[in-house]
Amino acid sequence: MVHNIDVAKILYEVADLLELQGVGFKPNAYRNAARNIESMTKELDEYRKTNNLRDIPGVGEAIAKKVEEILATGRLHYLDELKQQLPAGLLQMVEVPEIGPKTALHLYKELKITDVQELKVAAEHHRIRSLKGFGERSEERILHGISLLEKRSGRMLLGYAYPVAERVREYVAEHAQLKLISLGGSLRRMKDTIGDIDILAGSNDVKKVMDSFTSYPEVDEVVERGPTKAVVRLKDGTQVDLRVVEEEAYGAALQYFTGSKDHNIKLRSLAIDKGWKLNEYGLFKKDLTEVVARRTEEDIYKALGLKIMPPELREDRGEIEASLNGTLPNLIELNDIKGDLHVHTVASDGNATMEEFAWACKKKGYEYLGITDHSYGLRVTDGLSVERLRGNIDIAHNVAKRVDGLKILIGAEVEILEDGSLDYPGDVLRELDFVIGAIHSKFNMDSDAMTKRVLTAISNEFLTILAHPTGRKLEQREPYPIDLEKVMLAAKSAGVCLELNAFPERMDLNDVNCRMAKEIGVKIAIDTDSHSIPQLDYMFFGVATARRGWLEKEDVLNTLSLKELVSFLSA
Ligand SMILES: [Zn+2]
Ligand SMILES: [Zn+2]
Repeated sequence: MVHNIDVAKILYEVADLLELQGVGFKPNAYRNAARNIESMTKELDEYRKTNNLRDIPGVGEAIAKKVEEILATGRLHYLDELKQQLPAGLLQMVEVPEIGPKTALHLYKELKITDVQELKVAAEHHRIRSLKGFGERSEERILHGISLLEKRSGRMLLGYAYPVAERVREYVAEHAQLKLISLGGSLRRMKDTIGDIDILAGSNDVKKVMDSFTSYPEVDEVVERGPTKAVVRLKDGTQVDLRVVEEEAYGAALQYFTGSKDHNIKLRSLAIDKGWKLNEYGLFKKDLTEVVARRTEEDIYKALGLKIMPPELREDRGEIEASLNGTLPNLIELNDIKGDLHVHTVASDGNATMEEFAWACKKKGYEYLGITDHSYGLRVTDGLSVERLRGNIDIAHNVAKRVDGLKILIGAEVEILEDGSLDYPGDVLRELDFVIGAIHSKFNMDSDAMTKRVLTAISNEFLTILAHPTGRKLEQREPYPIDLEKVMLAAKSAGVCLELNAFPERMDLNDVNCRMAKEIGVKIAIDTDSHSIPQLDYMFFGVATARRGWLEKEDVLNTLSLKELVSFLSA
């Protein structure tokens, strides 16, 4: 059955589309009807048995006919027609709290912006403020609106949720003078998207912890405050849950609330094998009278005959077996990273200069920085002509004179064209220190064609790294169909690396893909794809995803020292 709410939704869409087309009066008529249908207490299907649809306020003959069609088919032909007349992404843009139909149409006409993603890029690169009637503040409001919209999907990106959660955790730790406090759940396991922000504290002074938590300056509303659990909503709309347990049971609670569920199930069955019982309060002898372990996580794992493993591994993907056998991987750490090999400067679509990036990387203790502005095929982001690419090489020489102790490698993020060729000629690519190949267009090829396209690029003698290999954008775009195993096998034999792009929306390759790369033996480059200086910090999340993929230092290209990297590049 078609529900009233679905009928209303279609009528609202019609209204938005008509408004986008600049039609007067009609949009309001559709909206009015939609509102009245939405607020009816009876389902339309029921209602029309005894009444005429035209008795509903705001529903005239034309709209009644359309409602009949929706009730009969679940669709509206008229809506499909309207949709074909304007880019579909414009409707999605209207969902952004700051964007009404008029604004969307204006942005489409003036800046050719057709969807939320393009809107975000335009606002980030300050292309909107120059329009009449817009300014710096409107760009900020648009970006804020987009972030609210993204949260509505229910899952948050790790790169955005983690810093928010860490700030709360640090605040409570300091104000309640707490040592036992940690992020929990998928956030502690560093999954690329997370559902909730959970924080766990161990303290025998619950009131003090709760008071600190609810007094955090960013709190907009205390949603719930119980004896051991509180929930707040921050000013940016994020919800944070805090749970407080007694100090002596903190380890058991932390283990339990970190999960994952599958990991915990397996752990519980190990306990049962020993005649014990494991729950969020501790590891107990079967009748629950005697505690075996509960103060720390280590105590619990040890009692079960296991070596504790980092939270990133706790997904029941073989980590318990590896722990029993003593074959846990020695996971890569942020400190192992010696440089970033995917960065965009002001020469293409970045907003910092090469020199600014160089100083920031030097400050991080990196040995090298790879500059990879876009090639000219990508006209939307101001790709570099061959002449301007050579200009980058000159800039690098100058920057090198001022920033010592950091090697600047000049590369490019080159388009992989539809036939798999790269969009700079070989004699230009030869002048570069390294080459990243990437797909940014023509995503809708079938798996065979896409795989062939990428294999052709991999066979290009100049390709060093295949960037964001599946093209996914979290919560926005599915990966394109591609045979990753074939791609990895080819990359391995060609000596090409695959990228783990650490940009929060991408995180591509993902953890599972990384593990596959490791098993096949293809090297991974963990890059940030930074377009600004703060984005260099995304490396932390890239390394976290690599750890979830069981990667060790040796599996990653940019853990090489400069000397080792140079010899790799010249091989
Ligand atoms: Zn790219
Ligand atoms: Zn890039």
